[in-house]
Amino acid sequence: MTPDDTCTASDREAIDAGLALATGQDYWSTPAVEALGLRSLRFADGPHGLRLQNDENPDHLGLERSLPATCFPPAVTLSCSWDEALIEEVGAALGREAAAAGVDVILGPGLNLKRSPLCGRNFEYYSEDPLLSGTLAGAAARGIQSTGVAACLKHFAANTQEHDRHRVSAEIDMRTLREMYLRNFEIAFETSGAWSLMTSYNRINGTYTSEDPWLLGEVLRDDWGFDGLVMSDWGGVYEPVAAFNAGVDVRMPGRPQDTRVREAHAEGRVSDLRVTQVIERMRLLAERTADKPAVPVEPEAQDALVRRAAAASAVLLVNDGSLPLDLRPGLKVAVIGELARKPRYQGAGSSRANPRRISTALDVLSAAATQAGAEVDFAPGYTLQEDPAQPDVIAAARDVAAKADVVILLLGLPEAYESEGRDRSHIDLPEQQLALIEALRVLDAPRVVAMCNGAAVTTAGWRDDVQAIVEFWLTGQAHGEAITDVLTGAVNPGGRLSETIPKKLADTPSYLDFPGDHEIARHGERTFVGYRWYDAREIEVDHPFGHGLSYTSFAYDDLTVNVMPLEDETAFRLSVSVRNTGPRFGSEVVQLYVTTPAGFLTPERELRGWAKVDLAPGEVQRVEIAVTRRRLAHWHEAANDWVFAGGQLTLHVGASSRDIRLTTAVMVPGHPLRLVLGKYSSLGQWLDHDIMGPRLEGLIAERGGFRGRIADLMNDPAGREGVCDCPLASLSEFPGVPLVPEDLDALCEEAAALA
Ligand code: BGC
Repeated sequence: MTPDDTCTASDREAIDAGLALATGQDYWSTPAVEALGLRSLRFADGPHGLRLQNDENPDHLGLERSLPATCFPPAVTLSCSWDEALIEEVGAALGREAAAAGVDVILGPGLNLKRSPLCGRNFEYYSEDPLLSGTLAGAAARGIQSTGVAACLKHFAANTQEHDRHRVSAEIDMRTLREMYLRNFEIAFETSGAWSLMTSYNRINGTYTSEDPWLLGEVLRDDWGFDGLVMSDWGGVYEPVAAFNAGVDVRMPGRPQDTRVREAHAEGRVSDLRVTQVIERMRLLAERTADKPAVPVEPEAQDALVRRAAAASAVLLVNDGSLPLDLRPGLKVAVIGELARKPRYQGAGSSRANPRRISTALDVLSAAATQAGAEVDFAPGYTLQEDPAQPDVIAAARDVAAKADVVILLLGLPEAYESEGRDRSHIDLPEQQLALIEALRVLDAPRVVAMCNGAAVTTAGWRDDVQAIVEFWLTGQAHGEAITDVLTGAVNPGGRLSETIPKKLADTPSYLDFPGDHEIARHGERTFVGYRWYDAREIEVDHPFGHGLSYTSFAYDDLTVNVMPLEDETAFRLSVSVRNTGPRFGSEVVQLYVTTPAGFLTPERELRGWAKVDLAPGEVQRVEIAVTRRRLAHWHEAANDWVFAGGQLTLHVGASSRDIRLTTAVMVPGHPLRLVLGKYSSLGQWLDHDIMGPRLEGLIAERGGFRGRIADLMNDPAGREGVCDCPLASLSEFPGVPLVPEDLDALCEEAAALA
């Protein structure tokens, strides 16, 4: 099909028919266009369970019940596994359910960066780190697409708060945008080749993401090579013609009666080329999703995967040895907490699945205890309403707990605390639960805490009042089994935190700018999000990024690094021996943080790779982490590009961002920075240029070198810095600088030819 002036009559008919594709036909599907041989495509939420609605009750906020489906653990939980293979497996299981139901696109994964623990949708997202977030979301997308169903990366981009999400402008400098809020999407796309993407509700620097040709064109398509379909978030198109022209291929939910794009096309404000693009993208997506084997779902197998994934992702935050529980005849166990019988296992909003089944911690723990001959008693201890502490409910719980040998406390956030559409206002447990912990402090019996919440909750005020804490996040439907498996030691928790748990809200990087005022959220913390911030500010945290204990222990040894030549995409390969030095089988996540000399302010240490390894007691394995030069790069504002110029890197290998076990320094070659130099580039920038630097130095030497005061300054490190900051044009005006205006013109011409 040829665009615009050269269109034939049949092209024109096709373009006319194609205009129908600019909007969905209803809540969840695109129109079939017979003239183009295009079938209708079906979309469904969401990232952690299929939310398939019947036609009578469409909604995008998860208020209406959908058809029963497996409810998998959401991203907050799975991300703590740091396990791409597991996440890919869950993605494939979700994809199979979608394929069986005839769904073409699953609206997920969601991978916005966790800028603040307050974001009400953090449970749907992976991490505060772009590499972890992008890699794991990429694994989820690969899994989904392995079944012939399209993944949809969302919400593109910088949708890091729910407050005022339809109006807020995320004000972000280019470097921060590239390195943090876009890099996660870039990596997810690079590692999955996702077939579709959803824009976000918010604006970035004043422009709605759905109306931003730079974001949807230059970045997404030209830089990254995305060839899939871009859809809007539901109700995230504010000006249909601007959105269509900027690159939103289909506006959702469907508004077929809205003819604004068609009219704009008739008036010449929408090009034929643009309509043609949409037709082609829709056709490609239809082809990509044409072969979905609709195999009937096996609910038991799916449920077993939920159980395994949730237990593998649980993070053992604190343990004095009280865990795992030793359930034995005669042991008196108190299970305390309303959440033990009314479980919190998924978040609220558009991702809410209608689980095929749900088990409670109380039922499954009681069954396991009874089977072992132990006795179980229960008390709720608090309500799930936002009431003040209830003295009688607490007193009853204390009485039950006082008779026990061990107390299992189920704590966490009631559903009302966190949901799509609103943010939290604090990071504490509800008042009633804090009062309960306080009341149980005096007991002799150990208190082990199982936490269920979708975003970071601080334990700083009470962690010393209990003996063990496991953060289960949101487990999905096999809730009781996953909790019981971990507490009893049937599974050794392998989770590591994918986000920092701060001591208090005021410590968090975006504290003064979240959620912002007057529709503006300034990202003043820049790239210092999550651990990058706490490290830079030397702030003590409750539990650091990457942290997670085990029922066994691991020792690191023999770190070696193989630096690759510059022609290789890989910058270096590191290997280290890890030994299981404890009594149980367990898995360790070996994390690599790198300090990179960039020549400008960068975080002290950044996650650049990791490896997960399973080890039997006494077993040693060598793990390898390969890092590409691209992963080491920072965004250079002046060069308007990614730069890794090489130099001495410090590699920190450890069990968390604050538990570094081995460190080494290596020289790694990079690609020199090639700034486009001009008269107003500083002397330092000229000298740093790999070709123009020696050229300029040669010219100055030819002319007899610097003289007088300038020569003195150049020979003194402090003075040299001042001179190097000076633009070449100003410097050449000083006596003692052997450069004339013609030299500058000639140098600039040479430099321009290199660009
Ligand atoms: C959410 C999306 C979701 C869509 C459809 C929106 O409110 O932001 O994540 O996929 O609704 O339910």
